[in-house]
Amino acid sequence: MAPDGLFIGGAWRQAASAFEVLDPATGRVAARVADATARDALQALDAAADAQPSWAATAPRARAEILRRAYELVTERAEALARLATRELGRPLAESRAEVAYAADFLRWFSEEAVRVGGEHRTAPSGDYRIVTARVPVGPCYLITPWNFPLAMVTRKVAPALAAGCTVILKPAEATPLSALALAELLAEAGVPDGVVNVVPTTAPAEVTGALLGDGRLRKLSFTGSTEVGRLLLAQSAGGVLRASMELGGNAPFLVFDDADVAAAVEGAVTAKMRNSGQSCVAANRFLVHEAVAEEFTGALRERLAALEVGREVGPLIDGDAVERVDGLVGDAKRRGAEIRLGGAPHAGPGWFYPPTLLTGVPEDAAITRQEIFGPVAAVAAYPDEPSMVAAANAAPAGLVAFLFTRDLGRAMRVGAALEAGMVGVNRGLVSNAAAPFGGVKQSGLGREGGLEGIDEYLEVKYLAVP
Ligand code: NAD
Repeated sequence: MAPDGLFIGGAWRQAASAFEVLDPATGRVAARVADATARDALQALDAAADAQPSWAATAPRARAEILRRAYELVTERAEALARLATRELGRPLAESRAEVAYAADFLRWFSEEAVRVGGEHRTAPSGDYRIVTARVPVGPCYLITPWNFPLAMVTRKVAPALAAGCTVILKPAEATPLSALALAELLAEAGVPDGVVNVVPTTAPAEVTGALLGDGRLRKLSFTGSTEVGRLLLAQSAGGVLRASMELGGNAPFLVFDDADVAAAVEGAVTAKMRNSGQSCVAANRFLVHEAVAEEFTGALRERLAALEVGREVGPLIDGDAVERVDGLVGDAKRRGAEIRLGGAPHAGPGWFYPPTLLTGVPEDAAITRQEIFGPVAAVAAYPDEPSMVAAANAAPAGLVAFLFTRDLGRAMRVGAALEAGMVGVNRGLVSNAAAPFGGVKQSGLGREGGLEGIDEYLEVKYLAVP
């Protein structure tokens, strides 16, 4: 039985009410989960604040070994965790297995980083005292995660927070709380002390969040989700002058130059577009293709997408609203002159499936080029040269990731530098890696997760002036 309660102060408890989690592949109820109120959330903060001093004082090696044990437990139970993620996301098991491996990697990576938090020792320029710096835990953190990767988005925050010596209150997305609750149980088994990790699923995110952000004991907010909600939470964090990390929406351009290996670009495109049925912040959103290779690229991509089997290889969207929204974007592009080369209409059901869809001749004013699609729809537009491709790529207010395909190293470096994005995939459709700094520029967010940088989000620099 997967846990379905609130996890507060190391104990499971039920709430006054519960809410349903639906399986998007069938539309049927997959579980019922306790629904936290603002009062429950404040009790979670009591637990996190109480546990903070002793967790911060726990030896880095001890924290590292707990995280390592958690990595081993996730790996041992990978199959059960993958099945659980598929139960709440409806997607093919192979995709859930890949997510569990990615999620586990954050636990391993930050178990290694926990013992490498250093400081500096410098002589003041005047020569009469020393500047000694230490990196210390920020304090109790509030972590909000989205539904699209229900385990990895959680470990990407929890692992560095715990490695740094911070306690946490986690609010998973209401559509997919099961993986987060299973992780809480597993972390406790790995040796995480009571109160260090608390989990409060809720159908009242604004109310729960308001209560936590308004409490002076909280020191940090780390949010992954839409730019719209991120903007709101950033404003709310100003009240308590909280440290804030924001991993927000993307609108990734995917550039294919006339000197690209087109077959490799098509494979990269399938990866960048179709992972999680396109429901990824790093999903390729706009295919900007040089006109000399546009027809070759589009024809080959159409063939690859047409061969994917809906249900077995392409999972559902998260809910019926998502299907309507994606279909609306396709309809708008068509009305503005785009051609539908594949797909273009929702599946009859059961479940919330949308087939792989390919649009060409997509004009720049179509909503689909300005918004995150979050679905398996590839929108292609042809351009005459490098400057027009780079200008189109940079026209979006988002700047999370960009992909570029070229055989010319000089061009890869030049365009890679010119693209306004926190991450650039060169001749690759996948950039995510626990060892790499993940994050965006412009309206895609603030801060980085993973890599050598990820732990810094949970540390403050403290300076001692020592004679
Ligand atoms: P969302 O913004 O609707 O929800 C994200 C989380 O915020 C959920 O837990 C939700 O309950 C909570 N939330 C919603 N309204 C809130 C409020 N008023 N106060 C407090 N919390 C609130 O996003 P989503 O639909 O769950 O996820 C999809 C979005 O997440 C996409 O835009 C995607 O690009 C983005 N995302 C970004 C990254 C990244 O690393 N940059 C990774 C994954 C997803």
